[in-house]
Amino acid sequence: MTVIDQIYQEDKASTGHPRVLALANQKGGVGKTTTAINLGTALAAIGERVLIVDLDPQGNASTGLGIDRRSRSCSTYDVLIGEAPLRDAVVPTAVPRLHIAASTMDLSGLELELGSTRDRAFRLRDAIAGLNPVAAPDSDYTYVLIDCPPSLNLLTVNAMAASDAILVPLQCEFFALEGLSQLLQTVEQVRSTLNPNLSIHGIVLTMFDSRNNLSNQVVADVRQFMGAKVYDTMIPRNVRISEAPSYGKPVLVYDLKCVGSEAYLKLATEVIQRERELRTH
Ligand code: ADP
Ligand code: MG
Repeated sequence: MTVIDQIYQEDKASTGHPRVLALANQKGGVGKTTTAINLGTALAAIGERVLIVDLDPQGNASTGLGIDRRSRSCSTYDVLIGEAPLRDAVVPTAVPRLHIAASTMDLSGLELELGSTRDRAFRLRDAIAGLNPVAAPDSDYTYVLIDCPPSLNLLTVNAMAASDAILVPLQCEFFALEGLSQLLQTVEQVRSTLNPNLSIHGIVLTMFDSRNNLSNQVVADVRQFMGAKVYDTMIPRNVRISEAPSYGKPVLVYDLKCVGSEAYLKLATEVIQRERELRTH
């Protein structure tokens, strides 16, 4: 066994505390769901045990992973409304070590239904804390990735209250930075009230097109504005990435060799590297 294998084994030793990361950006179409699916798959491919929690009523992460509507009889809605433990909403995917708690349209009514219930912001945090790796060894996750809806509503607040850190996908387009300060403000608010441990894990630039001057300019601006928070890895605009969900597959399964798959694998190693640095500091 090499040293790397050894570190790897130690890393995988059960702690019962997964790292919880939320994919958040109140803008739609920036790559949250694509990143949840493919970062989740890449992490699982390199040995992590990953749970994706679909918190978007659109359910794109669930569909993109091939979970049909019939297997969503228990969903994240049932969990957040308090009618089922998270464990019951989890289904395996075709990717080994990658599970998902699927969502349904019911989720869009949650905010109204919960009204001003005292614990309404902590429903997801408590549900994740209730995963019991001792009683159910296959729920011993090392990562939980939360796919947020495109707004800063109660669902996103639940995700932020439940998370160790936020991972922000940012599309390389003209309005990329618009809305980012609002997102950062919300994170700050959640930190000072609901979850003092919340941090920004990093910003991942998505749909990058090196032939496009605008794309290059956006990258320069975001790196200047956000510095080391921006991951080195950028996700290129890649048609294979956009085709994969219609087959109910992550791009790493649909076409492992394409540049999109390569980028998500690289991002996964960078995420793990940052985790290591966080732990040793
Ligand atoms: P969000 O969850 O933030 O709304 P999505 O992940 O659903 O965004 O992405 C929006 C659309 O862009 C989807 O159709 C998706 O397939 C496509 N897309 C995302 N990332 C890429 C990429 N790197 N290259 C090409 N298409 C992409
Ligand atoms: Mg989405």
